[in-house]
Amino acid sequence: MRKAARDVADQAFARAGLYDEDGAYPAADVAALAPRGLLTATLPRELGGDRIGPLALSELLREIGAGSLPLGRLLEGHVNALDLVVRYGDDEQARLVAGEARAGKLFGVWNTDDKEGLRLLADRGRRRLQGRKILASGAGFIERPLITATDETGRRLMVIPHLQLGRRADLSSWTAHGMRASATGAVDFSGVAVERHEIVGGDGDYERQPAFSGGAWRFAAVHLGGMERLFDLLRQHLRRTGRGGDPHQAARLGQAAIATETARLWVERAAAIAEEAPEARSAEQIVAYVNLARLAVERAGLDLMELVHRSVGLQGFMRPNPIERFSRDLATYLRQPGPDRALTSAADWALRQETPSIDLWRSA
Ligand SMILES: Cc1cc2nc3c(=O)[nH]c(=O)nc-3n(C[C@H](O)[C@H](O)[C@H](O)COP(=O)(O)OP(=O)(O)OC[C@H]3O[C@@H](n4cnc5c(N)ncnc54)[C@H](O)[C@@H]3O)c2cc1C
Repeated sequence: MRKAARDVADQAFARAGLYDEDGAYPAADVAALAPRGLLTATLPRELGGDRIGPLALSELLREIGAGSLPLGRLLEGHVNALDLVVRYGDDEQARLVAGEARAGKLFGVWNTDDKEGLRLLADRGRRRLQGRKILASGAGFIERPLITATDETGRRLMVIPHLQLGRRADLSSWTAHGMRASATGAVDFSGVAVERHEIVGGDGDYERQPAFSGGAWRFAAVHLGGMERLFDLLRQHLRRTGRGGDPHQAARLGQAAIATETARLWVERAAAIAEEAPEARSAEQIVAYVNLARLAVERAGLDLMELVHRSVGLQGFMRPNPIERFSRDLATYLRQPGPDRALTSAADWALRQETPSIDLWRSA
């Protein structure tokens, strides 16, 4: 699986400069995932998957992120969508998405609402959607996203509607500094009919803890992949320019190695805590740990970029140097929801524990 992921990532890295345009979608990279089993890797075996565990998944996401952060973002959304359907959906729904993933279809999770919010309305015995999603990666390219919508009784539900390729998406507002090739944009669902079998789980399942916040280790794993690529690019630069022996450069390279390895240790531990026997811990403990992990990775990523920029200098800001693109993509992708809340809620949890620090993160 790692070899397959590295092959895809190498190709994605080679092509990434070409895709680095507003509104772009890395179609060839996405198409390369399915034949190597990377779209079904996390599915249970009875659904045709390989049921890879959290450590293997973190390696897969790191490998792909090191090739292309936009591709990593898309794969992370796909993995999340499949996980939600398998976790909360019924057998028929799990078979539906597994079959489509086996056929090479990419999924995604679109949760971010504009001010109006997306609503699920009942209309003469039929259900239909009203409103939009924003910041939806793969908009216009994903045919069956997992979206969240609120019905007339206030229930927050997951829906897996079927969309036509290239319809309803507007990528014009995605003028972001980086992650240009993630096809992130707004999607108007108004009038889309929803069948009963397209509603997954029950009220509030999407935000049910610890899976909701605990799953953040997966995007941190993609961030880490981007960091690992930046670290490699820094080493290559220092070797090529013969500047690595300079004591200042050597010190920064050492600090960069610490930042990258710090992120790896947090990601792997967060993946283990969130996914291996989660029933042995309280939901709050898992969420607190993963919240700290995502912020530790964010901090390490920001530190790494500062070190790389200082060490490489202006060349690292010049297109088509991949350091320029990866820095832009990583800086943008590190923006994840509610970082202050993630930190203070973890602090609040720690404050309330009587457990000695030495046991704080142990399972019960
Ligand atoms: C490349 C990329 C792809 C994405 N793809 C998707 C996708 O496919 N699907 C999807 O649903 N979303 C997607 N998103 C959106 C993502 O999930 C987050 O919604 C988004 O990144 C939030 O970033 P933000 O900086 O605006 O967060 P915010 O949460 O707005 O944080 C900005 C700052 O405000 C602070 N803050 C937050 N809330 C408050 C408050 N109430 N009061 C005071 N301060 C506050 C935060 O701590 C932080 O300091 C994507 C984002 C990116 C970058």
